[in-house]
Amino acid sequence: MNQISRRKFLQHSSKLAGGAYPAMMALGLLKDAPAHAFNLPGNAKGEHIIILGAGLAGLTAAYELQKQGYRCTILEARNRAGGRCWSIRKGSTHTETGAPEQKAAFDEGLYFNAGPSRIPHHHQISLHYCKELNVPLQVYNNVNESAYYFSEGKGPLSNKKVRVREVHNDMRGHLSELLAKAVDSDKVDTHLTKEDAQKVVEYLRAEGGLDLDKLYKASARRGYIEPPGVGEKAGRVADPHTLSAIVSSGLLDPDFYNVAEYTYELQTPLFQAVGGMDMIAKAFEKKLLNPVVFNAVVTTVRNTDKGVEVKYKSAAGEKSITGDLCICTIPLPVLSNVDHNFSSNVSRAIDYANYIKTGKIGLQFKRRFWEEDENIYGGITHTNNELTQIFYPSNDYLGKKGMLIGYYNFNDKARVVGDLSFAQREQLALQKGKLIHPQYDQEFERSFSVSWHKTQYNLGGWALYSSEDRQTSYKALLTPDKNVYFAGEHTTYLNSWMAGAFESARQVATAIHGRLSEQRLAYPR
Ligand SMILES: Cc1cc2nc3c(=O)[nH]c(=O)nc-3n(C[C@H](O)[C@H](O)[C@H](O)COP(=O)(O)OP(=O)(O)OC[C@H]3O[C@@H](n4cnc5c(N)ncnc54)[C@H](O)[C@@H]3O)c2cc1C
Repeated sequence: MNQISRRKFLQHSSKLAGGAYPAMMALGLLKDAPAHAFNLPGNAKGEHIIILGAGLAGLTAAYELQKQGYRCTILEARNRAGGRCWSIRKGSTHTETGAPEQKAAFDEGLYFNAGPSRIPHHHQISLHYCKELNVPLQVYNNVNESAYYFSEGKGPLSNKKVRVREVHNDMRGHLSELLAKAVDSDKVDTHLTKEDAQKVVEYLRAEGGLDLDKLYKASARRGYIEPPGVGEKAGRVADPHTLSAIVSSGLLDPDFYNVAEYTYELQTPLFQAVGGMDMIAKAFEKKLLNPVVFNAVVTTVRNTDKGVEVKYKSAAGEKSITGDLCICTIPLPVLSNVDHNFSSNVSRAIDYANYIKTGKIGLQFKRRFWEEDENIYGGITHTNNELTQIFYPSNDYLGKKGMLIGYYNFNDKARVVGDLSFAQREQLALQKGKLIHPQYDQEFERSFSVSWHKTQYNLGGWALYSSEDRQTSYKALLTPDKNVYFAGEHTTYLNSWMAGAFESARQVATAIHGRLSEQRLAYPR
């Protein structure tokens, strides 16, 4: 091969439109990030792609298409990029249906993630973009045996906080004891030889922490009431909670299922972007050749003979632009109120979409009492009341001040709480939260809450599809409506994950580039 110097190549290629990046990759001058760096063959002829929405799907589509040389215009209704990928800091503002504007007054350096807060270790595409865009990551502690279960009810363990490790280990112990007895006494048909059945019993003894008689009598796994220490301090373990106390206190109800450990997406390790998850959106924004057009509320999307026409409202009045193709990432409940000339199938898919109701509140405290007083570093406390979950931060451990997510709820609980005013939500979070952490009384400073289903330009947390929807309406969004392509988490099976936004953007970028450059291209590549 005719050698050219790296420097010469870079000087020359920086003058080329977006074609430089793939060319550099091909020449081995740019290192392919792990996972799957995106690399489409061939360049654009400067066609204009209008992208509706500057959430992660819109930003990613523009970022990838500009690499090929497409001219991308992103229209965004809000005054910021990122959409749901949003971290609340001092000065963040927020409007919900029928409520006054809320402005965050947190101390400098404190924040909470109103939207995404966790990246599963197998969401390679999310990790990939963090790497490609130089967004530093840190480990996110999702599971913490030191956190609590708090069940409002009538049982002996109700209305008080119980460490997760006590319930987990007592349940492991009780169930292992029951099973070991059943297997040992041939009461269950295991289809095992006697020898293998004994191996199962031995396994249960280890799993449940049973004694030699295969009885569960508690162990240090569930923590100490007097910790071990110097000299004669051997440490003291409390008796286990009885099975009936655990059951009758509601601690086996769905609110307390072992969601965190067992769900594929929530298995450790998980990651978060240092300084707030919206660092990912900010990093994309910095890479765009054409800045996002902010405060541009799209009102009309129409297929035309030549391409597409989009009308939007801005401070300067109503404007209209035309493009060759369009990528629409507007969440479906919002898109339902946008004028369009899509086919009846697409129109139906948009109008009947179902989105989850969900909300979070960030609470600023003077002191990190959960760490200082209660040894809780990250993780989640689960409740069966309106709070559903309290999230402890996985950053700035042992710092001075800190933020908790005082509730993160869904469905009916999110609806009830979302219907409250901002002040009432704060009151509820404090009133219920101090049943678990009485320190709230002394240490609380200020709050900020987001109810996603009441949030303009989202009107829902994420798309929820039944298996029937997946076979019908969902499919209508997977192919373009003439010149308009649909992207966003709602066009994937990765709903509720940023990975959905990224994957959908790559999918439409591939389809558009294939169409305009007349190549047969498939995604995933
Ligand atoms: C509470 C919550 C927790 C989550 N937790 C996680 C998590 O831990 N990990 C994870 O990976 N993912 C998580 N997600 C999911 C993740 O945030 C989303 O899947 C992803 O951000 C969606 O990106 P998007 O581009 O598809 O949509 P959006 O981010 O909603 O982008 C759509 C954009 O369109 C704009 N828009 C709307 N209407 C108009 C209009 N008329 N004109 C112009 N622009 C318009 C919006 O302002 C927005 O910027 C969470 C989401 C929520 C809500």
